[in-house]
Amino acid sequence: MKRTRMRYVLGALLAVLASATSLTACGAGGSAQSPRLNVVTGFYPLTFITERVGGDAVRVTDLTSPGVEAHDLDLSPQQTSMLGSADLVVYAETMAPVVDKAVATTEPKRTLEAGAVAGLRHTDSKDYGKVPDPHFWLDPLRVAKVAEAIGEELARAQPEHAEEHRERARRLCEQLTTLDEEFRAGLASCARKDVVTSHAAFGYLASRYELNQIAISGVSPQAEPSPSRIRQIQQAIKDKEITTVFFETLATPKMAETLATDLGLKTAVLDPVEGLVPGSGEDYLSLMRDNLAALRTALDCR
Ligand SMILES: [Zn+2]
Repeated sequence: MKRTRMRYVLGALLAVLASATSLTACGAGGSAQSPRLNVVTGFYPLTFITERVGGDAVRVTDLTSPGVEAHDLDLSPQQTSMLGSADLVVYAETMAPVVDKAVATTEPKRTLEAGAVAGLRHTDSKDYGKVPDPHFWLDPLRVAKVAEAIGEELARAQPEHAEEHRERARRLCEQLTTLDEEFRAGLASCARKDVVTSHAAFGYLASRYELNQIAISGVSPQAEPSPSRIRQIQQAIKDKEITTVFFETLATPKMAETLATDLGLKTAVLDPVEGLVPGSGEDYLSLMRDNLAALRTALDCR
């Protein structure tokens, strides 16, 4: 009896020792000398870039939970205070006004406003006025610019990991250049160029690959179209022999469904990649390739 207990205590002691050894051996991501950098990001594409560039040296917290529509974000008091204590906040102005306001009031140690790096354009329409368009990530080459900037920012924040950050940023830029080449080749000879989208998220993609976006809602999905705008879209669909109305995974205006039904058009998904559908197993690159395939079908590309 005594011996059994002795053996049990010894076994437990060994197990504790073993786990302690494995902890120091693997370092659980970051060693005691250089703790992981706490980075808070506004929404998915920024999370994707930061995780790819930061690797094991960063811990990334996304303010937008999977499945939540990023334009429509609300912050809890806890999330707001997280901004104040973060080592770096990566956000894109005008995407979610609550985040812009929270960044201004909490004054984080370091911030990177991705829109300034990507070079934002303004959309100008009769219905929605002149507003900045935050959707730079639908242009892979703009994402590459932001990846490089995040690499430099992380290198400054963690000089001991500077080379690894720059190297990972370079690798991501290569993948984005490949993606850009696939889009360029895939959309080079198509029967049509007009793309009817749910909200005006695809302006950068359209201008990069010489397509024409006809958006039902504005740059924010909450901006609903006027009756005259709807008549205009219906006319364009007829004139340009458009076959497909594109829906989104997270926010599809009722009007997109009505339009497709009324005119007897096909529907397909064009993902603005503003967030992931929980459990989908997709990432930015795979969603963009799905988008390319959907565009090639709708536009009848060779
Ligand atoms: Zn959007």
